[in-house]
Amino acid sequence: MTAARGSAGTRLEQARVEIAQRRSHAEAATAGPWSADDREVWQSADQETVVVRSWVDENDPDIAHIAANDPAHVLAVLAAADATLDRHAVAAWWDPEFMDDGDPAPCGTCTYDARRVVWPCPDAAAVLDVYAPEPA
Ligand SMILES: [Zn+2]
Repeated sequence: MTAARGSAGTRLEQARVEIAQRRSHAEAATAGPWSADDREVWQSADQETVVVRSWVDENDPDIAHIAANDPAHVLAVLAAADATLDRHAVAAWWDPEFMDDGDPAPCGTCTYDARRVVWPCPDAAAVLDVYAPEPA
């Protein structure tokens, strides 16, 4: 990590840690797909393994949300976030030792020809905002 990346580089590290932690939780959870009725979420293959039981109101909207976010779905979302950060990383050719002082790091994907996009580009920033939001 270079100093020139500053807080964005720190946010990238935080996002990678957060993604890894969420992946670990998803991998440890009851495998999906999950289904739900108005009271429970269960593992669909055996229709017996109760993943979550609601002791609150019937038709709790949280139940449908939990069922829609089973481990396989979460792992797919995390893989997409990781892929976006990989694809929109700082340009491999960028070396702060050979740049003018304060020259910001460019995105390796969004910067081409005469177009220069400072990292984090909008794609990387969108992922960072989810997994490593800047302090309010
Ligand atoms: Zn980019």
